[in-house]
Amino acid sequence: MKVGVLSVQGAVSEHLDHLRLCSTEAVAVKDAQSLDEVSGLILPGGESTTIGKLIDIFGLADSIRQRTENGSLALFGTCAGMVLLANEITDGISNQPKLGLMDIVVKRNAFGRQRESFETELDFKTFKEPLTAVFIRAPIILNTGSGVEVLAHLPEGTVAARQGNLLATSFHPELTSDLRVHQFFVEMCREIG
Ligand code: GLN
Repeated sequence: MKVGVLSVQGAVSEHLDHLRLCSTEAVAVKDAQSLDEVSGLILPGGESTTIGKLIDIFGLADSIRQRTENGSLALFGTCAGMVLLANEITDGISNQPKLGLMDIVVKRNAFGRQRESFETELDFKTFKEPLTAVFIRAPIILNTGSGVEVLAHLPEGTVAARQGNLLATSFHPELTSDLRVHQFFVEMCREIG
């Protein structure tokens, strides 16, 4: 089984390293051929409008949507990647590009100037010990649909959630040495095969 990291823009190499440390074959995905090979795909942090435009230009958006909807691909969006997954985005630019696959309402840059970038201890459902979560100009989930399981939250709102083969976190699990969130996603990919 291979797991990919979308590598059109953003924090790619840290995700590849984490997947490899989870004993998973990890590949950078930037075209239709490399996308075909993977059972799961991480949409990294970066700039959501840029990543969204590039996946359209590179012709990847439609196959990501099709494979996710027919259940043959698991997706994990971190930060900007979470914005791309959302059905509804508030505070985006007009014509904000998106994949629109997950039943969540996401607010971009939700923490304001004072808390623009910060680290905090977070309880994550199913993990015995809290994790250190790194937030960088992070989005937040304002609303979740009935099929969405909340995995972690802060007073401001939901910061990690799962809907079937979709996983989203506001924070950057690739920036700490803790592998548990990547392991959680690799398990989701294994369920797909
Ligand atoms: N604020 C960025 C966006 O909305 C996301 C920041 C990040 O991925 N670290 O695109």
